[in-house]
Amino acid sequence: MSHKPVIAVDLDDVLYPTAQHLADIVGEPLGIAIDAYHGDRRLREVVASKTGMSLNEAAALSRRAFLHEDFAVMKPFPAALEAIYELAATHDIVAVTARSNEIHATTRRVIERDFGNLIREVYFPNTERWSDEPIDKLPHLREVGAVWLIDDRLSHVEHLGELGIHGGLFGNYPWNQIDALPHGVVRLANWPEAVRAIRDGGVHSLS
Ligand SMILES: [Mg+2]
Repeated sequence: MSHKPVIAVDLDDVLYPTAQHLADIVGEPLGIAIDAYHGDRRLREVVASKTGMSLNEAAALSRRAFLHEDFAVMKPFPAALEAIYELAATHDIVAVTARSNEIHATTRRVIERDFGNLIREVYFPNTERWSDEPIDKLPHLREVGAVWLIDDRLSHVEHLGELGIHGGLFGNYPWNQIDALPHGVVRLANWPEAVRAIRDGGVHSLS
């Protein structure tokens, strides 16, 4: 049994460039290029506006991209691989992802393929099919005693400071811009920054 401090990491747009990968899967057959990281509209909205299809059709297309055979071909950000390798020497790393249950098995396989035993476990708080309900990662964070959650979604990190868990808001994405970060949350623009912040024990003291 390990007694290293536990870091929880999100998968999509933290370890993997998922938004762009999905945009490519959806856009290529339609002949449209979508830059997922430099627009503030959701994929379904961009597809609908560029093709004239309805928002519902575009949403269905976007959801199906997760099931496309090319989805699992996606490789991690190289900097994420390096960072996880480095952090795993001093921490236990677990993944906590809101991915829905159709792709849980694929996700486990891909994490094993790309990270081997560097990621100890993958947790899936979302057991629904394509649920739009907000997903609560906190029960799993508590279960594993996480000291950090690195996640690109503000909703997943914003209350962690109150609970003594460091929230690392990952990336500078159109969907995670905010004027003032909540207590206990730091922005980690990239993986080298994340490694530094974790080594420093967090920028804010969470007493
Ligand atoms: Mg994510």
